[in-house]
Amino acid sequence: MFKDHLELEIDEHKYDLRLKDPSIFLPHNSIQEFLISDFKNKKAIILSRIDTQIKNLNIGIKILKNSNKIIKIWLDNSIYMSSNVDFFDELKNKIKFSKNELIKVDKLKKTVEKYLKFLKTLYNQSIDNYGIGKSRFSKILKKSKYINQNINELLKLGQNELKKYKSEMKKIANKNNCTIEQFFKKIDKKIIKKDKLIEITKKITLDSKKFIIKNKLFEINHKEKLIVMKTPKQLEKQFPAAAYVPPRMDDKKQIGRYFITTPRTKEELAHMNLHELKLTSVHEAFPGHHLQMSTIHNTKFKNNILRQFLASITFVEGWGLYCEKLMVDTGFSKTDYDKFLMYKMRALRACRIIIDINTNCNNWTYKKAWKFLKKHTMIPESRAKGECFWYSQRPTYPMSYLIGAHIIEKARDENVLKNKMDYITFHKKILSYGNLPAQIIANYL
Ligand SMILES: [Zn+2]
Repeated sequence: MFKDHLELEIDEHKYDLRLKDPSIFLPHNSIQEFLISDFKNKKAIILSRIDTQIKNLNIGIKILKNSNKIIKIWLDNSIYMSSNVDFFDELKNKIKFSKNELIKVDKLKKTVEKYLKFLKTLYNQSIDNYGIGKSRFSKILKKSKYINQNINELLKLGQNELKKYKSEMKKIANKNNCTIEQFFKKIDKKIIKKDKLIEITKKITLDSKKFIIKNKLFEINHKEKLIVMKTPKQLEKQFPAAAYVPPRMDDKKQIGRYFITTPRTKEELAHMNLHELKLTSVHEAFPGHHLQMSTIHNTKFKNNILRQFLASITFVEGWGLYCEKLMVDTGFSKTDYDKFLMYKMRALRACRIIIDINTNCNNWTYKKAWKFLKKHTMIPESRAKGECFWYSQRPTYPMSYLIGAHIIEKARDENVLKNKMDYITFHKKILSYGNLPAQIIANYL
């Protein structure tokens, strides 16, 4: 597996993202990472990197000048990021710099402005298509996810699953004398007030934790802590709804952070209702990512560096999605609204399979992708665009949610539903292998 991993890394270098994505040279993400971290010497780390960041921006100008592979939507995003003038003000607000240090920070800010000006000249060198092609896509699937099906079989699976979930949504809507659209509007009326968002989320995470312990689904025998907080402003575009940032593997206290993004538009607000929040929290916190990561970090593999390299998204995200349905099946979320939204989010993950394959292997454009997603999931246009943007940057990642959940569900059916073991034992066992690819874990079970 490690050999496969290295082979893919080498391919990545050949593919050379530096020629395609101007955001690679920007300092924003790296600075941001330290701003939200617990490091005591944040300021020293940020300052020590400024010279390199200035150098990087200048290298970026040299490299991109001669590139004819710049991807247009990535260029748009880089321009958006570097136009964020608030970024440096916020940095200065959060960290107290001396006069001399401020000169350094301002020099970086000026270089970003120069870079931004340069980026705006690149549109005639940019291209629309960002697909990585069938052969590279298949290779990543084979060498990092160890999935047996080929691309056509996976595409068919995505299409069938989308049909299945939409028909489940229709059934629930019809039961309530509504069409899918009408039923969806009914849920929209149950909006949460912005200032209550964090408080309510905290309560949901506590309730779900109690539920899984009481109903003997999981045991929590390790020290963990979850902090629920508002998404920092600079991360809102990256995390349009919510996100979970896990503790590091060797942290003594396993503290995870669950970010909730305050809705900015009316359309986004309409999607912030109690049932969606419940579904998201189950995915991100208990029994989703927070329980998953803090448990895995407590296994005998916790200091195994190889395992950290091999962490697989089919298991990480497959788990999150598995938990969404598990909590409906076991009665934590039991209203028709809960069930309907669970299927809606499954339909979204089925769309991810279809879009992932079609944009990378069948020349679908960005516009075709987000329009398809919007049509089948009824999510706001801004969110559909944001979704398809991140899909463009992470080939095979979007499809991993549903593919991974299927693998875990199949293993659950073979073990728990056939009474070979109870839920606690099954979950303990499946989380004991670390974050290996879901298919590999399933083979071990
Ligand atoms: Zn997730």
